[in-house]
Amino acid sequence: MIVGVHPLAGFDKLLHYRVPENLRATLQMGSLVRVPVLNTLRLGVVGAIGAPKDFPLDRLKSVAQVVHPFPALTPDLLKLARWMSIYYAASLDGIIETMIPATVRSGAGIKEEKLLSVAQKLSPEDLATLAKRAPQQARLYQFLVQQYRPQNKGLVLKRLSQTAAVVNALIKRGVVKEEVRRVVREAYAEDWSKGELVAAQAPKLNDEQLAAVRGITEEVAHDRFGVTLLHGVTGSGKTEVYLHAIDTVLKAGGGVMFLVPEVALTPQTVARLRSRLEAIAPDHKCVVWHSHLSEGERLDGWLALAAGEAKVVVGARSAVFAPVHNLKLIVVDEEHEPAYKQDETPRYHGRDVAVYRAKLNEAHCLLGSATPSLESYHNALNGKYVLQTLKLRVDNRKLPFIDVVDMRIEVMRSRGLTTLSQRLANAMQDRFEKREQTILFINRRGYSSSMLCTDCGHVEECEHCSISMTYHRADEMLRCHLCGAERNAPVTCPKCRSPKIRWRGLGTQRVEESVRRVLPRARIERMDTDTMSKKNRFREILGQFRAGKIDVLVGTQMIGKGLDFPNVTLVGLIDADISMHIPDFRANERTFQLLVQVAGRAGRGDRAGEVVVQTFTPQAEPIQFSRHADYEGFSATELKLRKDFHYPPYRHLIHHLFRGPNPEKLKFFSEQWAKLVEAELGKRVELRGPSPSPIEKIKDAYRWQLWYFTDNVSKTIPLLSKLRSDFKWPDDITQVLDVDPVSLM
Ligand code: ADP
Ligand code: ZN
Ligand code: ZN
Repeated sequence: MIVGVHPLAGFDKLLHYRVPENLRATLQMGSLVRVPVLNTLRLGVVGAIGAPKDFPLDRLKSVAQVVHPFPALTPDLLKLARWMSIYYAASLDGIIETMIPATVRSGAGIKEEKLLSVAQKLSPEDLATLAKRAPQQARLYQFLVQQYRPQNKGLVLKRLSQTAAVVNALIKRGVVKEEVRRVVREAYAEDWSKGELVAAQAPKLNDEQLAAVRGITEEVAHDRFGVTLLHGVTGSGKTEVYLHAIDTVLKAGGGVMFLVPEVALTPQTVARLRSRLEAIAPDHKCVVWHSHLSEGERLDGWLALAAGEAKVVVGARSAVFAPVHNLKLIVVDEEHEPAYKQDETPRYHGRDVAVYRAKLNEAHCLLGSATPSLESYHNALNGKYVLQTLKLRVDNRKLPFIDVVDMRIEVMRSRGLTTLSQRLANAMQDRFEKREQTILFINRRGYSSSMLCTDCGHVEECEHCSISMTYHRADEMLRCHLCGAERNAPVTCPKCRSPKIRWRGLGTQRVEESVRRVLPRARIERMDTDTMSKKNRFREILGQFRAGKIDVLVGTQMIGKGLDFPNVTLVGLIDADISMHIPDFRANERTFQLLVQVAGRAGRGDRAGEVVVQTFTPQAEPIQFSRHADYEGFSATELKLRKDFHYPPYRHLIHHLFRGPNPEKLKFFSEQWAKLVEAELGKRVELRGPSPSPIEKIKDAYRWQLWYFTDNVSKTIPLLSKLRSDFKWPDDITQVLDVDPVSLM
C-alpha cells in the first residue's frame, strides 16, 4: 500500500510512502501521520491513496505513525484546502495547518483509559469450576458481571487488590474484554457563559418567522447545495429561525455548524443557543469553539466532532474547519461582519469558505443579517441565493426613532467642537431621571485620516475612485489609496473657504468625561479594546449593566454586537462621520451597517427606543436611509454606485502589498512588476497603482501596494502566481496577496 502525504511546515508538495502492515487498519484519507522527510520525522496529512502509474517503488520510505485513529481532515476538508490554496493564493501546507488546531497536530494531551467488561457470561457450572481452579479470576468475573457499564481497569484492580495477570488470563479465556477509550474533559459542558443564561423555552413563532422557517426547511429537505440569505431587521428574531432550521437538520441526522463573528464577545448568543439546542435534543452535544478554550478543552471538542460524538459546533471564523460529520447546514450569523475575514495568511473569508464548504457537502448555507453585505444581497437579487425577509420586530415592537443632530449647528452654538450635543445631553438626562439606561457608541471603524470641514461637512474625495483622500502628515499631501492620485492638503475648505478643515477622532475616555459633566451622579462605565482584552472584565460589565447597576455605557461599536438589553431606551452615536470618510469604497456600507446595528440596540423591551446620531453631514445617504432602516433603498443606491465604478460585488478586488527597507528600490520594483502584469494580463485585470500604502512604513519596512480588479479570481490567481514566481524579486522585498479584502486601509 502506497500513500501520498502533504508534509506540513514548509513543504508544498505531495510525497509518497509505503504503509507498513500494522498501520493499514487505521490509516485513511485525511489521516494525520508522521513521515520521514530528510532524516527527520514530520507531520503530514494523507492526501492520496495509491501512487501514480509507473511510480518508482524502490527506495520508498515508510509512514512512521498514524497520530489519531480517525482522519484529521475529512474528504471535504481536503478538497476545501485545495480550493482555498488556489483562490487565496496561499500554500497548501499553511492552509492545512490552519484547518487542524495545534493541539490536535501535536497529538499530545489525549487522555485515555482502559475499560474492562464481561465478554461472555459463564454458566453456574463453569463459574464453580473457575472458582476452584483460579479463585482470583472468579472474583474479578463476579465483580464485573454485576456492573452496568465497563469499569476502569486500574480502579478495579486496586479495589480487588489484584494484578494485571488476572485480567490477562480472563481475556485469554475470552470471558473478559478490555477496551481503550478517550477521557473527555467536557469542553462543551463548561459553563463559561455564566450569568448570561437566558430561558430555554422556545417562543411561538410569528407568521414571518414561520414563513422563513418553512422556506429554509424546504431548501434543506432537497438535500443539495443552496444558500439562503435571511434579511431580518434587528430584533426580528432571526435566532429563532436558525434554531428551527438546526432542529430539523439534527432530527434528520445531519451535522450543523453555527458561525458567529467572535464568540467571546457574544456570550449571550452562545448561551441562548446552547441551552436551546440542548433542550431540543439532550443527546446532541454542542461543541463551543472560541479563543479562550484551554488546549485540552479544544482538543476534546475537536475529537468529539471528529469521532462523530458531537454533531453541532458553535464558533468564530476558524470553526468553519471543524470536522463535523455529515454536514448538512451551516449558519453564518451577522454575515456582513468584516471579522469573518482573517487578516493574516491564509487570508480567507469565513463566510465565503462556509458557502464553498456547503457546496462540497451538498449542504445548505444560511446567511443572516439585519444589514447583509452587498455581495450577498447582490447574489440574492440575481437569484443565486434564496432571499427570506423578516420586516417586523417580534411582538410588533417599533423600530427606534432616529434623531439626526447636525453638528455644524452645534459647533456654531457652542463656539467650538463639542462632544455631546444639547439634544443628546437632554435625552440622557431624561433617561437618568426615569431610571432607564443609555448606551453611547463611538465610531472607530478604522483609523480616520481624512479631512473634514467642521463648518460645512465637506470631505476631500478622489475624482477617479469616489473614496476619501487620505491625509499624510509627513508631507502634508492628500493621496488616494486606490489609484495613487495626490494633491496638496488644503489649508482652507475648498467648498466654503473656512479654515476649520481638519482631521480628528474621539476617544472613549473623552466621551466618558463629557458624560460625567452632564450627569455627575450617574454610574458610568467604559468599554473599549483595552477593557475587552480582559475577558472577565467584559463579562462583569455586561452583567452589571444587565442588572441595572450602570446608567450609561460608553464604548466602541464593537460592544454593540448582539446585545439585547430591554431597559436600554436611548442609544447615542457620537461621531457618525468617521466611518463614512474612511478611504474605502465600502465606507457608505459600513456606516449604514453601523447606524442600523447601533440603533437596533435600543427599544428591545416594552418601551420604544430613541437613537441620537451626531454628524457633520446629515444629508449623506447612509444617514438618511438608516433613519428608516431602509435597507432596500440604501442597497439600490449603493449597488448602482458600485456598478458605475465596477467595484465589488460587480468585480473582485485583489490587494498586492510590497514591503522592503529601501523606498526607491521598492517603488522601482513595484512599478516594473505592474508594467509586466499590465502587459501580460491587462485584458483580464484592471490595475490601480502602484502607490504608497495608507501606512507607508511599519517597523522600518516601507510599503507599496497595487490593486487588481478582476471578474474571475480562480482564473486570475494561477496566472498571477506563475508570473510572480518567474519575476526576479530582490531578496529584501516581500509581498502579500489579499483576495477579496474587506478593508482598504
Ligand atoms: P435578531 O437576531 O433578529 O436581532 P433575536 O433573535 O435576538 O433577534 O430576537 C430578539 C428577541 O426576541 C429575543 O429575546 C428572542 O428570544 C425574542 N423572540 C424571538 N422570536 C420571538 C417570538 N416569535 N415571540 C416572542 N419573542 C421572540
Ligand atoms: Zn467647508
Ligand atoms: Zn483614486
